[in-house]
Amino acid sequence: KASVHRICAGQVILDLSSAVKELVENSLDAGATSIEISLRDYGKDSFQVIDNGSGISPINFSLLALKHHTSKLADFPDLQSLTTFGFRGEALSSLCALGDLTVETRTRNEAVATHLTYDRSGLLVAEKKTARQIGTTVTVKNLFSNLPVRSKEFSRNIRKEYGKLISLLNAYALTAKGVRLVCTNTTGRNVKSVVLKTQGSDSLKDNIVTLFGLSTFNCLEPLELCISDGCQVGGFLSKSGQGNGRSMGDRQFFFVNGRPVDMPKVTKLVNELYRGANSQQHPIAILNFTVPTGACDVNVTPDKRKVFFSDECSILQVLREGLQQIYSSSNA
Ligand code: ADP
Ligand code: MG
Repeated sequence: KASVHRICAGQVILDLSSAVKELVENSLDAGATSIEISLRDYGKDSFQVIDNGSGISPINFSLLALKHHTSKLADFPDLQSLTTFGFRGEALSSLCALGDLTVETRTRNEAVATHLTYDRSGLLVAEKKTARQIGTTVTVKNLFSNLPVRSKEFSRNIRKEYGKLISLLNAYALTAKGVRLVCTNTTGRNVKSVVLKTQGSDSLKDNIVTLFGLSTFNCLEPLELCISDGCQVGGFLSKSGQGNGRSMGDRQFFFVNGRPVDMPKVTKLVNELYRGANSQQHPIAILNFTVPTGACDVNVTPDKRKVFFSDECSILQVLREGLQQIYSSSNA
């Protein structure tokens, strides 16, 4: 049974970035306005997400890391109208199965915080009082240490995993309005460096400037398209002919109702229609699709990175026309 649990857990938590993603989304769900991601050795030794959200109430301490425990579903009449990131109660239980999980948390009803330790099956095995502001810190050490093959893979690819994580954090930094994000990495010799830091502005423009600089922002063109009733796409794209030959494929971020998602078809379309200085070049693209909650399904894969639109054809068609307009007129 433990091994089955481990296999399922391995499907929710694929790698470092999907692990951290779950923790960041929990912090956002808890209403945090400040989130710090603290890595040790690029996340290989440990990673920690520290937030100033609501905290976890003591009645949930023993349930927290059990499979399918969630405090979120009860608040929603049906799955279609979900607005929180999580609802399946799989993240913490999966992380427990794959690493050493500890939680420090305090709600506004508690005078002191509690430090909680869980075992690999999700059972609460130790509990002690500690000092902390209101909010939650989740720490995971030795991710994948009990899956020898993946663990080896993880160590070998750590720089790549780390790169993917930073890109994901950039996505949240762009989209999480009013949330300060900081990411630090501490290497073997206890040298701590800040790898990402935003002030949590409400405007996408400000967040782009903070993350990528004003000169980059000045190379972008705004895009606003109405697809249908209640359905639109907005954001920024490289102007045509920009980029000095550098490909910006690592600066493409797509969101559905503010959630970072993978959109291979949109990626392909944007790259195809973009007119750079050469055909190998990819544009910067930061696009948010606003759709009615019933019109898309983000729960297709366990990591919730893929989306299904009920009306994908017209979304792609309107986007195609919009992009053609930008990239043909200014380049003619
Ligand atoms: P889900 O997010 O799908 O509910 P998780 O396994 O990610 O499931 O989390 C389990 C529960 O733990 C959540 O429902 C929530 O009650 C609590 N929780 C986890 N992280 C936090 C956090 N940072 N702040 C407040 N509560 C949290
Ligand atoms: Mg969650």
